[in-house]
Amino acid sequence: MKKIILLFIGFIMLIFMIPMLFSHTTLYTSAKAEEQNVETEENAMQIEKSSEEQKYDYKAYSTIKLLHKNDNWVEEIALDDYLLGVVSSEMPVTFEQEALNAQAIVARTYTIYMIKNGRKHEEADICDDSGCCQAWITKEDRLAKWEEDVREENWAKIEKAVNSTKGKIITYNGEVIDAFFHSNSGGMTETPAEVWGGTNYPYLQSVATSGEEAYSQYSSEVVLTKEEFKSKILEKHKDFAIDFSQGNCIEITEYTESNRVKNIKVGNLNLSGVEMRNLLGLKSANFLFSIEGDNIKFQVTGYGHGVGLSQTGADSMAKQGSNYEEIIKHFYTGVEIVDL
Ligand SMILES: [Zn+2]
Repeated sequence: MKKIILLFIGFIMLIFMIPMLFSHTTLYTSAKAEEQNVETEENAMQIEKSSEEQKYDYKAYSTIKLLHKNDNWVEEIALDDYLLGVVSSEMPVTFEQEALNAQAIVARTYTIYMIKNGRKHEEADICDDSGCCQAWITKEDRLAKWEEDVREENWAKIEKAVNSTKGKIITYNGEVIDAFFHSNSGGMTETPAEVWGGTNYPYLQSVATSGEEAYSQYSSEVVLTKEEFKSKILEKHKDFAIDFSQGNCIEITEYTESNRVKNIKVGNLNLSGVEMRNLLGLKSANFLFSIEGDNIKFQVTGYGHGVGLSQTGADSMAKQGSNYEEIIKHFYTGVEIVDL
């Protein structure tokens, strides 16, 4: 009898246990499925996010915070209005339309790069100082600097540069580039490490440009007396000493691959060409010197640091029939032009 009771209890337990086993399995499976759903959703969100980042969002950059360096105030300004002020300030309006278009894209790219990566200003995205960020001028001030009879057509060229390239920026591997530019490369652009140290960028190679010698920015001369030369270096290097009776008191010891001065020995100092340029106020680090009587003469080629797009090079290319895309892809290696 006991056996029958035990069997009966066992049978009853089985009846209850089997569905519980099944339901557990079911529960487990659906939990797993839910987990997978969450994962799938997360993936979808990530994919959405990365494509969002890739195509950027023009609306997200519709206004920017511009720091006016001189009077130290921050203005919220529409991106396109800001770009009109940059293009009209950074490039002569007499340059070819395709060069101005390239400048507009470079200025937009530089601005977006600063918004995304720049850490120069705490309260603003960018400032109006060309030595720090990009030069900028109000439309009113710009127009006032032009003769009245060309104001309208000049401004139309600037507007065309910004509006016909609306939203276009330069990317490398899907990321906005640090779009350096300068006035005149002297025939060959420079790599950033030679100017600022640090690492180079794959899209900022040294490239040759033709026709830059036709521009006034190509060639300049600085003549200093030996005393002036000495005092300019002493401002920064208090221990500077030089004996001008020594034949090799000034000697260029190394050139960069683009033929700029990399290192120069001056008296008891070894300076970089870039520092020499800055101390003496030369237009570029591509210079020759000669000592003539009481004077030292510097013959300078090109204007600016030489990295990235050369503005006169862009104009020269445009004159020879290149469009803005060809110009940009010449100065920035392996890049794409995409819409914001
Ligand atoms: Zn700045």
